[in-house]
Amino acid sequence: MGWLGLDDTDSLDEGCTTYTLHKLLEGLPNHVQATSPRLVRLWPFAQQRTRGNAAVAVELRTDDENGLLIYLDTFWNQHVVPTIGQVSTTQHDARRQYPSDPGMVWFSSDPPTASFYTACVQHEVQLSAVPEASRSWGGQGRIGATAAVAWHEHRTTFEAIAWRSEERHGQSERRVCESTLRSIDAMDSTFLSRDPRKGTRLIAPRGPCPVLFGVRARDADSARIAGERLRFAEATESTVALRVFITNQATDDHLVDPPVKATVEHVEILSRGTTRISTNHGMWLAFEESGDVKLLAQWLKPGDEIEGYGLTTDAQVLHLEKLRLLSATPTLRRPMCVDCNVRMKSMGAGQGCRCPTCKARIVDAWDEHPRLPPYPSWVQPPADARRHLAKPLEW
Ligand SMILES: [Zn+2]
Repeated sequence: MGWLGLDDTDSLDEGCTTYTLHKLLEGLPNHVQATSPRLVRLWPFAQQRTRGNAAVAVELRTDDENGLLIYLDTFWNQHVVPTIGQVSTTQHDARRQYPSDPGMVWFSSDPPTASFYTACVQHEVQLSAVPEASRSWGGQGRIGATAAVAWHEHRTTFEAIAWRSEERHGQSERRVCESTLRSIDAMDSTFLSRDPRKGTRLIAPRGPCPVLFGVRARDADSARIAGERLRFAEATESTVALRVFITNQATDDHLVDPPVKATVEHVEILSRGTTRISTNHGMWLAFEESGDVKLLAQWLKPGDEIEGYGLTTDAQVLHLEKLRLLSATPTLRRPMCVDCNVRMKSMGAGQGCRCPTCKARIVDAWDEHPRLPPYPSWVQPPADARRHLAKPLEW
């Protein structure tokens, strides 16, 4: 028995690491048994990231490890080697694309420790840091492949993935039954199937990848039941298979506890509402699509105490994923004239205040007015703008 990991077999135009694993499992020799496969999301800022930044792994059991290795060699040469070096030309993603550099690893015993997974989900990891496998194939993809094997499964969710038939790969349009999707979305255990605000689907990737849909759920049975219902709904196009993956999605494994606490020094609203908060703990960014996070950021004033979760880029900027106000500095105003009920005005530095109506004077003074925060607790981006790894606040 041992663990197989696989990553970066997808270019953006075609292919998908989950589909490659499906084909690998379909063709396994009879003497090999597979347990449920894993889909593991990794550090979102990895330099040579694949589209969804997901790697896959599966536990394989056999009494004939040599026979299995011969099969893996053959599979690698036939199905993965032809994809090496492909560069995407898709319009769906403007990010710079690296030529695909897939990797596959086999650990027949002594799988890598969970600390390697944690490193790969929270930081950039170099190929030279990858623990040595019993057997490995390929290049850069070995990082994610090994991380997927190393995952400790402390926090888990599930995703039922269905792939469309091969002649439909490459098509951007996907036919999925909307009414069945609504009923699946209403199930207690499923999550992020539809965007509650826009009513749009969140189950399907954009672009030409082989995945028709992925239904996420908090337990494996619900994922399977919901996935099968959607798969066999009349208005859903034909699929070749469905598999339930155990995943680290919606676990917040990428975030480091505790959150960062800071004092606001300056707030600047950039184009499209993206908001830059300068704090005594560096620069924080709330992006235009981050909804309530951005709105709370825009409301902040110097002196406010805040705490936030997010990922820190190479440039040491915290990209906010969750934000909370701890205390707001009050607004300061000049006092009202007790006789006229008119706000007094400053006469200049150290000159005191004077009522504009009755001209009465007092010494320099301020009244404190509490600012009512727009949100009482943590805020997060809307459903369609969250990372795969982000755990919904409602949980
Ligand atoms: Zn007055």
